[in-house]
Amino acid sequence: MVVGNYPSESFSEVNAMTANRHTTLDFPLPGIARLSLHDADHSVNVFARELLQEIDAQLESLANNTDVAGLVIVSGKPGSFIAGADLTEFAASLDEPPQVIERVSRDGQNLFRRLSTSSYVTVACIDGICVGGGAELAVWCDRRIVTDNPKTQIGFPEVKLGLFPGWGGTVRTPRIVGLANAVEMITSGANSSANDAYKMGLADDLVPGGAAAADHLLQAAARMIHSERSSGAYLTDRQRWSQPIDMADNELAFLGATAVAMIQQETKGHYPAPVAALELLLEASSVDVDTACKMESEQFVPLFGSPINRSLLNVFFLQDRNKKGAGSDLDAADQPASLGVVGAGTMGQGIAAVSLRRGVEVVLSDNRAPALAAGEQAVLKEAAFDRELKGPNLDKVLELTPRLGITTDSEELGECDLVVEAIIEDVGVKQQLFQAIEPNAKASTVLCSNTSTIPITTLATGLEHPDRVCGLHFFNPVRKMPLVEVIRGKQTSQATIDRAAAFARQLGKSPVVVNDGPGFLVNRLLLPYMNEAAVLLGEGVTIKTIDSAAKAFGMPMGPIELHDVVGLDVCLHAGKVMQQAFSDRVVPTPIVDKLVGEERLGQKNGRGFFDWTKDKKGRWKKQPSEEVGRLVANLATPSQEKHDLSDRLMLPMLVEATLAIEDGIVEDVRDVDLALIMGIGFPPFLGGLFHWADAVGAGVIVEKLKGLKRLGKRYEPSEMLLRHAKSDARFYTSG
Ligand code: NAD
Repeated sequence: MVVGNYPSESFSEVNAMTANRHTTLDFPLPGIARLSLHDADHSVNVFARELLQEIDAQLESLANNTDVAGLVIVSGKPGSFIAGADLTEFAASLDEPPQVIERVSRDGQNLFRRLSTSSYVTVACIDGICVGGGAELAVWCDRRIVTDNPKTQIGFPEVKLGLFPGWGGTVRTPRIVGLANAVEMITSGANSSANDAYKMGLADDLVPGGAAAADHLLQAAARMIHSERSSGAYLTDRQRWSQPIDMADNELAFLGATAVAMIQQETKGHYPAPVAALELLLEASSVDVDTACKMESEQFVPLFGSPINRSLLNVFFLQDRNKKGAGSDLDAADQPASLGVVGAGTMGQGIAAVSLRRGVEVVLSDNRAPALAAGEQAVLKEAAFDRELKGPNLDKVLELTPRLGITTDSEELGECDLVVEAIIEDVGVKQQLFQAIEPNAKASTVLCSNTSTIPITTLATGLEHPDRVCGLHFFNPVRKMPLVEVIRGKQTSQATIDRAAAFARQLGKSPVVVNDGPGFLVNRLLLPYMNEAAVLLGEGVTIKTIDSAAKAFGMPMGPIELHDVVGLDVCLHAGKVMQQAFSDRVVPTPIVDKLVGEERLGQKNGRGFFDWTKDKKGRWKKQPSEEVGRLVANLATPSQEKHDLSDRLMLPMLVEATLAIEDGIVEDVRDVDLALIMGIGFPPFLGGLFHWADAVGAGVIVEKLKGLKRLGKRYEPSEMLLRHAKSDARFYTSG
C-alpha cells in the first residue's frame, strides 16, 4: 500500500520505535509518526520537567527525518489528554528570580513552537481533558482533532491560579480562533466542549469517542495529514498565524471595553490576572508572533509568585488534600447506595435532589402528608433540572420518579444504607426519631443529622449503636454549596465517618471532618463575624458601610445582607445557642430580636434588614428599608472611635478559629481554610483565613488585637496566636 509518497514496506523498519519513561515515538502508518504521552508519575498526563524534556528529545529525533509526513500527538492514558502543568513543581519555583521565570516561559514556548515550524504536519489528537499547558501544546500544532467524548474539554484555567498561559497560549489561540473567542476563553478560564471547540475552529475535526477513540483519531489524523500535504493549507496558516491579527482599531476598542466590564463584574476587582491577560491579548494582537511570545513571557513574570497566585495555588492544594481525606479510599461496595431523608422541607429537598441526580436511590419521608407531597414534587423538579431548558426535563422526571420513594412512616427508612434527618431543630424530636429508626435499621446503616446547632453526642444518647451516628451538615442551598461538615460525636466510629464522608464525595461535595462542639466549625466561626456586624450597627455604623467593608475585604456579600439570606429567625436561634456556649465572646445585641419581633425574617418573607422583591427572571433584588433605618438608628449609641472595619469583622473570626483548634474541633489550619472558602465564600484570593493571617503575620495580628482588646474578650489573642507571634511562626508550617 502506498499513501501519498511514503512506501509502507520500509517506513516502520527504518523508523524504529523509541519508548521512554513518559513518552513513546512510533510509526503506526506510512508517513505518520506518533508521539504518545504516558506520564509514569501521575494518573493523567501532567507537564513536569521530565516529561517536557522527553518531548523535546523525541522531537529532536524527528528533526531531520524526511520520511515523516506528519506527527500525531496522542495520550497513552485513555480518556484524558493532558491535565495541565505539575503544580507541585510550580509551587516549588514560586521564589525563583524573575529571569528564571521568564526563561521557563520562553523554554516552553520554544519547545512547543517546534510543532509549528517542523518539516511535517503536526496534529493533536484529543480525547478527554486538554487544559493549561496541554491546550498550549495543542494550539501550537497545525491541527487539532477532538472526540465527542463529553470529557473532551479544552481550556486555559490559568487565571484561576492568578496567571495567564505562559507557553504561547495567548499568542496562538487568538490567531487560530479570533481575538474575541480567545479573550473569552483565556480571561474566563472556562473550558470549551469538543463541540464548541469545533464550532469556533479550535478543533478541525470531530470523531466518535469511546472504546475505539484512538483508532478514529489516528485514521482521521492520517487522512488530514495527507490532505494537508497535498493542499499545503497548513503552510498558508503557518504563515498567517505568525503575523499580527487583522482587526480594526474601533473593533479592538469595543472588544476591550466590553471584556473589561465583564471581567469587573465577575472578579469585583479582586483578581488581576484576567485583566492582565486581556491587556496582553489586545496589545499583542498588533505584533508578529516572535514579539507576541516575548511580551507574553515578560508580562507573565509579575503574576507568577504574586500573593494572589500563591493564595490560589494554596486553594488548589487544599482541595487536592481534601480529595484524599476521609472516605476517599472506601471500596465501592462499602459506599452507601440508598438514602433515606427525613424531613421534606428546604434542606431535606435539597439533599434528596442532589442525591437523586447523582444516581442514589432515595426514600423521602415527612410526618405531614402535604409537606411530603410538595417535597416530592420539588425534589423531582430540582433533580431533573436542565440548564438549557431552564426547567425540568420531562424525560428525566420520568426516569427519576421510580428512584424516589416516599413515606410518612420514617421507621421504614432502616433499610437504607444511610439516613439523613433534616426535621425541625428540636433535640427531643430528633432523638425520638433516631430511636424509632434504629430498631429497624441494618447493621451497616449510618444515621446522620443535618442539625446546625445540636451536639451529635446528645442526639446519639439512648441509642444502642451511638457509634453509627454522625452529623452530616449540608449548607443551604444544597445544590450550590460544596461543603459538607461530617461531625464526629464522642462515640462515632471511624467506619461511620468514612461512610458518611464517602457519601458526601459521591454527591460531588467536599467533606470536612470536625469534632462535636457548639456550631461545629463553620457556624462557630461565622457567628463572631455576624455578631460583630450587629455590634457595629449598635455603634452607629451604617448597614451600607458595614457590608461594603466586608465586600472590600473580598467576602461575596456583606454580613448584614447575609443575615437576610440565612433568615433572621435562624440567626437569632443560632446566636442564642452560641451565646450560651461562649457567653464571654458573643455580645448580645437587640437588633435581630427586634426585627424578628416585627415579622422581619429576611429574604424568605421579603422583609429583613432590607426589603426584598424578585425581578422578572426570579432573582432577588434588595432595597434599603427606611423603617429598618429608623429602627437601627433608635437602638444605636454612636461611638466616636474609628476602627478599621475589616479588622473589626475578621479578627474575631480568626481568634475563634484558633480557639476552635485549641478545643480540638479540627487539628489542621487547612481544614479551617477549606471549610470557610467552601462554606461561607471566604475569598479564595486570600487563600483561606489562616493563609491570610500568615500573610499579615501573627505578630501584626496580635498588635492589632491589643488595640481592640478593650472591646471585649472576642479580641483577646488566644494562646495559639500568642505562641505564633512570639516565635514569628507561620500557621501553615506549624499547623
Ligand atoms: P424546614 O422547616 O424547611 O423542614 C422541616 C421538615 O421536617 C418539615 O417539612 C416538617 O414537616 C418535617 N418534620 C418535622 N418534624 C418531623 C418529624 N418528627 N418526622 C418527620 N418529619 C418532620 O426545615 P429546614 O430549614 O429544612 O431545616 C431542617 C434541619 O436542617 C434543621 O435541623 C436545621 O437546623 C438544619 N439546617 C438548616 C439549614 C437552612 O438554611 N435551612 C441549613 C443547615 C442545616
